[in-house]
Amino acid sequence: MSVLEVTGVRKSFGDHVVLDGIDLSLDKHEVVVLIGASGSGKSTLLRTINLIEQVDDGQILLGGDDITDPLADPDAVRARIGVVFQHFNLFPHLRVIENITLAARRVHGIPKDAARARAMELLETLGLAAKAREYPDRLSGGQQQRVAIVRAIMTDPELLLLDEITSALDPQLVGEVLDLVRTLKVRGSTMLMATHEMSFAREVADRIVFMQGGRIVEQGAPRELLDHPQHPETIRFLERERRGGEVV
Ligand code: ADP
Ligand code: MG
Repeated sequence: MSVLEVTGVRKSFGDHVVLDGIDLSLDKHEVVVLIGASGSGKSTLLRTINLIEQVDDGQILLGGDDITDPLADPDAVRARIGVVFQHFNLFPHLRVIENITLAARRVHGIPKDAARARAMELLETLGLAAKAREYPDRLSGGQQQRVAIVRAIMTDPELLLLDEITSALDPQLVGEVLDLVRTLKVRGSTMLMATHEMSFAREVADRIVFMQGGRIVEQGAPRELLDHPQHPETIRFLERERRGGEVV
């Protein structure tokens, strides 16, 4: 069974069609990278999966459950999905350890001691143990984003959604965050991620999906899609990216 199955998803804001019939599925342990120009609908797609946006039409199955069913409980669905956005939204008044354990305790009802033990184990594995008692503003942007990732994986979500998680970082901090994503892949996380880091996409993706105008234009293994794109729009987009022309 697929972890995620998106079928015929459509979403408009007013008369602006932002998702124009999206079909996409992810198998367990699969890492799928969304690429496409700014405005192509990547974030909106991720937001519909996390039920931040309601679809106008179509269906999304998570582990076989229809999460677009009006009767689905959004909190229960979100509890099964880990999300990291561009802007690490850690609570500034909570220490790292508290930021990481908060949702696990409140949403998942994990007892405090168990949540702390799990958090410390993750922080140790991921090289952040020394920061456990710091407040977020004492951390670099890269460290904050790594903490946000640890928070997202605390409860072993079925699916991780990562939206441009390195875009707000200084270039020298991007590497440590991408390293953590590599680690998650090795640990078997199922991930759907939007990124502009093409070389990273090539390395980490099992499949790359190119979106334009709210549609999936083309998808394939990194070598197929990046080295032998078939669709003129994909070719044009990749050429622009190679020239570094597009500033997002
Ligand atoms: P991407 O992540 O690929 O840059 P987005 O999904 O953020 O693209 O945006 C796709 C389009 O949808 C853009 O034109 C954006 O302006 C529009 N859009 C996104 N969210 C909203 C919203 N809440 N209201 C109106 N328009 C929106
Ligand atoms: Mg976006």
